[in-house]
Amino acid sequence: MNHKLLREIPKVDELLKNDTLERLGSRIPGQIITQAVRQTLEELRKEILSGAVEEMPSVDDLCGRAAALAARNDQPSLRPVINGTGIILHTNLGRACISDRAAAAAQAVAQSYSTLEYNLQAGSRGLRYSHVEELICRLTGAEAALVVNNNAAAVLLILSAMAAGGEVITSRGELVEIGGSFRVPEIMEACGATLREVGTTNKTHLRDYDRAICEKTCALMKVHTSNYRIVGFSETPSLADLVELGHQRGLPVIEDLGSGCLIDLNPFGIHGEPTVQDSVRAGVDVISFSGDKLLGGPQAGIIIGRKDILKKLKAHPLTRAMRVDKMTLSALEATLRSYDAGVAGQEIPTIAMLSATPDYLRGKAEALRTLLNAAGVEAEVVPTEGQVGGGSVPTQLLPSFAVALSGGKKNLDELEAALRLGMTAIIGRIHKDRFLLDVRTLREGDFETIVRCVVEALA
Ligand SMILES: *Cc1c(COP(=O)(O)O)cnc(C)c1O
Repeated sequence: MNHKLLREIPKVDELLKNDTLERLGSRIPGQIITQAVRQTLEELRKEILSGAVEEMPSVDDLCGRAAALAARNDQPSLRPVINGTGIILHTNLGRACISDRAAAAAQAVAQSYSTLEYNLQAGSRGLRYSHVEELICRLTGAEAALVVNNNAAAVLLILSAMAAGGEVITSRGELVEIGGSFRVPEIMEACGATLREVGTTNKTHLRDYDRAICEKTCALMKVHTSNYRIVGFSETPSLADLVELGHQRGLPVIEDLGSGCLIDLNPFGIHGEPTVQDSVRAGVDVISFSGDKLLGGPQAGIIIGRKDILKKLKAHPLTRAMRVDKMTLSALEATLRSYDAGVAGQEIPTIAMLSATPDYLRGKAEALRTLLNAAGVEAEVVPTEGQVGGGSVPTQLLPSFAVALSGGKKNLDELEAALRLGMTAIIGRIHKDRFLLDVRTLREGDFETIVRCVVEALA
C-alpha cells in the first residue's frame, strides 16, 4: 500500500477549479460534476489501495475522467438510441417512432393547458375521447371508438364488459402469447370469462364454433395470430362466415387484431396482414388494436365497433383505470390526421420505413458508407434482411441493405459493446464476422453522429 500516493490525491475543490470542469458547468449541473469528481477520486483511492496505480495521474487526466463520468451521469436512463437492427417495431427499443407532427402536438399540450376535457363552443366540460373518435370512425368505417392505454388493456376491457361470468369461443389455433405475458387464455381468466377452445391447432371449422355455442356463450372471439403463422394443412373460417354465424345465433363477434394496420401493405411486398377496415367491413362487432405497432403512433389500445357495445365499454369502471393521457391522445390525433390527409407514407416513420424500396435503401447505405470511408473507417454495403418486428408479419423478411464494419483492431464483440455503451447508444448486430447497421431503421439525420461514434468506438 502506498501511503505517500494516498496523501497526494488532489482535493475535490482543486479539480473543480480546473478549466475543463469549469467549462462543463455551463452544460451540466454543478452537483453532478462535484459528485463525478468525488467518484473519480474515490476510485483512484481504491486503485492505489489495491496497488493497481503506482503513479499519481495528472490533474488534467483526472478532470477528463470526471468530465466523462459527469456527462454519463447526466444522461437520463430512458433516452434515445440509434436502431441499426433493421427491425422497425422493436418492442425493446420502444416500437414505433412517432411523426414530427405527433411529437410537436404532444409537446404543445404537455406544456400547456388544453381542450382535453373542455368544449370551447359550449364553454363547458367536454369529452376526452372526442378528439379522436370521429377521426377513427372516418378512417376505419366503424360506428364508434374508444382509446385506452394499450391493446392488452383493450382486450381486458372488452372481455370484462362483455363476457364476465360467461363463455367465449376461440379457436385453438389462436391462443396467442405476446411477449410480456399477455396470453389469451390467462386474459380470459383474469376477466372472469371461461375460454371455450374449439377446433385443433391447425384446423378449425365454422361447425366447431357452431357446436360449442350454448346458453353460457357470450361471444365468439377471433385473435389475429400476429406473431406466428400456422401454415400447411391449416384452415380457419373466414371472418365474414364467423360474423354470419355469430349474428344468426345472436352473439357478438370480438376481434383482437393486434397490429392495427390502416393501409394495404401488399404494394410494399408485405403480404397477409389484414387491415382494420377489412374487419369492419366483415361486420365484426368489436375490434381492438395497438397504436404503436403498424399504425405508427403512440402506445395506445384502440377499440372500435358497434355504438351500443362501445357505449357499454365507455361506462365500464375499468375504462377510467385505463385512461390515456393528453400527450398520448394528441400524438394519436396527429398520427390519424396524417392518414386522413393521405400523407401517412411521408409523415409517419413506421410507414416510411415499411415502404422504403431496396433501391432507396441501397443509396442510403452507400451514403453512410461514403461518410464512414471519408472518416477513415473501412465499411462496405451488403444486402441483408430486416423484419417488421413488434410481433407483426412474423414470417416475412424485408430485403434491405446494411453498412458492414469489421472491428479493425477490436474484435466484433468489443466493437458491438463500445457502440452500445457510447454516449449515443447504437444497436446493431454481428452477422458472419461483421458488424451490421441496417439502414432501414436509421435516420439520415443521425449519420454524422453514427460516424463520430464509430470512429470513437474503433479508436
Ligand atoms: C401486440 C398484441 C397485443 C398486445 O398489444 P399491446 O398494445 O402491446 O398491449 C395483443 N394482442 C395481439 C394479437 C397483439 O399482436
